[in-house]
Amino acid sequence: MIMLNCMNQFSRFLKYATRTTPLLTTRELNVFSKFKSEFKSRFKPRFKTALALSAALGLAACGQSTSTTSEPNGAQSQSSAQPQEKITLKLAHGWPKGFPVFGESVDDYAKLVSELSDGRIVIKVDSANKHKSAFGIFDFVKSGQYDIGQSASYYYGGKDPDTLFFSSMPFSMTQQEQAAWFYHGGGLELANEVYAKHNMEVMLGGNTGMQMGGWFRKEIKTMDDLDGLKMRIPGFAGKVMASVGAVPTNIPAGELYQSLERGTIDALEWVGPGLDLRMGFHKVAPYYYNGWHEPGTELMYYFNKDSMAKLPEWARSVLKNAARLTAYNMTTYSFSSNTENWQTISEQYPNVQVKRLPDEVIKALKAANDELVAKETARSEIAKRIIESRQAYLEKARAWTTIGEKLYLDTLEAQ
Ligand code: CA
Repeated sequence: MIMLNCMNQFSRFLKYATRTTPLLTTRELNVFSKFKSEFKSRFKPRFKTALALSAALGLAACGQSTSTTSEPNGAQSQSSAQPQEKITLKLAHGWPKGFPVFGESVDDYAKLVSELSDGRIVIKVDSANKHKSAFGIFDFVKSGQYDIGQSASYYYGGKDPDTLFFSSMPFSMTQQEQAAWFYHGGGLELANEVYAKHNMEVMLGGNTGMQMGGWFRKEIKTMDDLDGLKMRIPGFAGKVMASVGAVPTNIPAGELYQSLERGTIDALEWVGPGLDLRMGFHKVAPYYYNGWHEPGTELMYYFNKDSMAKLPEWARSVLKNAARLTAYNMTTYSFSSNTENWQTISEQYPNVQVKRLPDEVIKALKAANDELVAKETARSEIAKRIIESRQAYLEKARAWTTIGEKLYLDTLEAQ
């Protein structure tokens, strides 16, 4: 009876996961099949073995609400329900409390982990309002001050320059192309190789999709307009802007509007309509430029390795699979938010002008980017491997995008 309950519970888990997204891997489904075979062969004589297997497979409540023992003569007996110890983990993210999409996604993650673990894993979420360090997530998780973190990898290039490659790169892969690289082209393994040096393991955290090039107070007509331009633009793109004469800076989300309004900065890029609208940038900087710098920015979940090592396998499985589901949900939510909010901006704020950067500016930025990437390739052995892996995958993936999605859109546009 207990085992039937276990099987039913895991089936519910599978149904939930496959309903939410088809992202459960073949390996995980194979593990379930193996578990069923083990169950059949060992059911009668070896309850304990089967229960241990079920626990390893993430059947949080199986064998927990009721403990079962084998008598010396092989007879089974059941004791009454025992109170179960909860696993409590601390998570820090780098956004203001309840911040749309990014922060909401972390709250959803904590809820999903609780649901999938039948309430046995409790995640306490601290926002930047609480821990007061929007860019401190790397150090928090590395040191073990927090067990889990969620942030963007490219914020930590100052801690380790190899982390810059795992959010998005200028002129590089779109969201779909990069997700394929992470999950099926060795990208996630490379990210974990980099983060292992800092006592962390990582999972993808959700993607913003194509980002807009940002809000500018003045129009950009020639390269001269970039000279001395103070712009909030993080990551590798910030380095590119610096190399063409602009003055890049990074500013926490909560201070962006004020900085732009007061003229502390002349321009900023944030995300896209989905997140930009509620920030109010359109009120003080009407020129909205095309993206080139972040064609699909991935957030990341960080896990302290020591904290994970203390957990049973089922708990690690829940934490990682919940991250994968949450990342997928955030990605589709981002697209939806962009869709809804662009409609609002285009209908209600006619002062907003969508602009395309002049060809000479794009060419100069691309040349500067290529030069910086070449320097990075020579900087370290792992940087070389990451860059080459990204470039090789981009070429393959873009060939498909070109005859697939791009040809489809071009064909429709030509009608
Ligand atoms: Ca951005």
